[in-house]
Amino acid sequence: MNLGRFPRIRLAHLPTPLEHLPNLSRALDGPEIWIKRDDCTGMSSGGNKTRKLEFLLAEARAQGADLILTQGATQSNHARQTAACAARLGLACHLLLEDRTGRTDADYTANGNVLLDHLHGATIEHHAANPDMNGVMAGVAARFAAEGRRPYAIPGGGSNPIGALGYVNAAIELVAQANDLGLRIDHVVHATGSAGTQAGLVAGLAGIRSGVPLLGIGVRAPRDRQEENVFRLATQTAELCGCPGAVARGDVVANCDYVGAGYGISTPGSVEAIRMLARLEGILLDPVYSGKGMAGLIDLIRRGRFRRDENVVFIHTGGSVGLFAYAGDFAPEPA
Ligand SMILES: *Cc1c(COP(=O)(O)O)cnc(C)c1O
Repeated sequence: MNLGRFPRIRLAHLPTPLEHLPNLSRALDGPEIWIKRDDCTGMSSGGNKTRKLEFLLAEARAQGADLILTQGATQSNHARQTAACAARLGLACHLLLEDRTGRTDADYTANGNVLLDHLHGATIEHHAANPDMNGVMAGVAARFAAEGRRPYAIPGGGSNPIGALGYVNAAIELVAQANDLGLRIDHVVHATGSAGTQAGLVAGLAGIRSGVPLLGIGVRAPRDRQEENVFRLATQTAELCGCPGAVARGDVVANCDYVGAGYGISTPGSVEAIRMLARLEGILLDPVYSGKGMAGLIDLIRRGRFRRDENVVFIHTGGSVGLFAYAGDFAPEPA
């Protein structure tokens, strides 16, 4: 897979570290747990979207765009990282933020990612919950174009085949690091939402014939829909990379049992996972994605899903600035 033939603007700190989590592994008394630190990609505190934006913004620049549009939930990490990367490239950025939780408190509407969106100079419009925000964004892009602007619209989560190239690259990077360390990876686990991260990883891991199984922990959609979304995008991404047919339907596995009451709503498991990583390893997860992904991994370990002599890599996709929008879920425990 020759990613060098795609336009790319270097924005991320790569390779991200691959680290052992000795304290968490010991506390759970299960497999050895490793963590791929994609929370350390840089650009406004990092996260998985930086890798996608390297390819997406290169396409925007090649098309002569002067304005980047994207959409996401009010506390979207993707929107915040897009605002930061656009600022770095001297491009205007306009965000459509969708209310998916019904929360109206100032922590949620103004702190965390929203505070940083403003700080990076993005303009923002707010929307009620809408199943077709990419369609709404197309209308907004047409309006800007009619005014003489040159907008480039990035779909929610940066999840199209161009964005997913960032995670094809991450799959190659991860396997190369494990090879250098002499580490046999038995499983990779991460949080899956708009599907680009998992699709890129699936296409990359299959394209290099790594034989490494991947498990996405869903944060929103039910299993059937999530797996279909990932499979469709992984297939398109493999084709774009010159590996048509590399992805089998069986390569795409999502477990959507850890969503709880809904997208962006904490669960007892996600709060526990965030506390455990903070206290055992000094690592910050986030309430919407990586906290639920880790909650799934912890629960599956407790259920004996992995052998003690196996190595599991958790991909930390970032998002910890979202914690400041969820202060109420983390009230200090009595001493
Ligand atoms: C967007 C996001 C994800 C999910 O990635 P997708 O490519 O949308 O599936 C996971 N973790 C964090 C912190 C994110 O911001």
